[in-house]
Amino acid sequence: MTHGKIPGKFFTKEEEDKIVQAIGEAEKNTSGEIRVHLHRSFQGDTIEEGKKIFEKLGMTQTRDRNGILFLLELKHQQLILLGDTGIHQKVSEHFWEEIRDIVLLEFKQSKFAEGLVQGILRCGEKLKEFFPRQEGDIDELSNQITEGAD
Ligand code: CA
Ligand code: CA
Repeated sequence: MTHGKIPGKFFTKEEEDKIVQAIGEAEKNTSGEIRVHLHRSFQGDTIEEGKKIFEKLGMTQTRDRNGILFLLELKHQQLILLGDTGIHQKVSEHFWEEIRDIVLLEFKQSKFAEGLVQGILRCGEKLKEFFPRQEGDIDELSNQITEGAD
């Protein structure tokens, strides 16, 4: 058995602000909802755990089913991108690969906040093609970063 030191704050306040701002910026153009969640460690299968968290965060509750979650699993340093059913009907696999590559390019240089910001903004651009923002749009899911343990 082994254990590692649990990181306190993954992002500085400044980085967190930047990410939250990027989400707000992206959501200006689209009715889609973008969210970032940090998870300390997955016990089981990555995709299954990811889907559970997606549900738990209420990501499936948007009217147009157009939520996207940037999920970071810190222990094994995994990025999981999850989109709701409305988005899956519209986009191809290429959409996810493009966003992933944009994020990982920065992550490889340990620029985690920057990677998320880039990925989020690109998501906003892409989402507006399929889900343009409508008059009277509401913020269905908070833009704040959430955290969980297991
Ligand atoms: Ca919205
Ligand atoms: Ca939002």
